[in-house]
Amino acid sequence: MKTINYKKMLLQAGIEMQERDLTVETWGNISLKDPATGLIYLTPSGMANDTLQESDVCVLNGHGEIVEGTRKPSVEKMLHVLIYQERSDVSAILHTHPIQSTVFGILHQEIPVIADEMAQAIGGPVHCAEYALPGSIVLAQNAVQALGKVQACLLANHGAICVGHDIKECFKVAEVLETSAEIYQKALAIGRPIEITKENTDWMRDFALNHYGQK
Ligand SMILES: [Zn+2]
Repeated sequence: MKTINYKKMLLQAGIEMQERDLTVETWGNISLKDPATGLIYLTPSGMANDTLQESDVCVLNGHGEIVEGTRKPSVEKMLHVLIYQERSDVSAILHTHPIQSTVFGILHQEIPVIADEMAQAIGGPVHCAEYALPGSIVLAQNAVQALGKVQACLLANHGAICVGHDIKECFKVAEVLETSAEIYQKALAIGRPIEITKENTDWMRDFALNHYGQK
């Protein structure tokens, strides 16, 4: 079996986040979980993604204790740890500061399911977590609550969280969220957007998970 280099994968994801314009400067952070060992690979605090080396990656156990690495981990460490504790289906977390989605985070407003791809990729409305200071345990707890069982949530006045079974899924979720947020703003500007029903959302999510594509 080919072993996965999680550190390398994390550095590549950092570059990709920058290239996709999903954040500004050094804000935003990424983690990957190795389901076999339970270890969490997290980006360090306040370092530019394009300068990171594999030795800069912080390796944590499932409780958030550092087991490898000399760098200070991202201030949102507990956000990652609590999500992994709560969601066994999640093995990658992408925290971004994207413009269109953050508009709703500033309004403390959820983004309802307004497009089919949102139902398929995210699985439900994207709720906004109650405000808490960055890096606080309360922010981590609020985020877990807002996330629930879907693939994304907003942080009040802050940014977005996207989760997936791998980092590829996180980027897909991030793109769908950002596009949906932009479409929703335009729809709100000229009329009253119609939300997709929960029944139809659930059907599409199930289809996307279990029946879509080439098996
Ligand atoms: Zn942030």
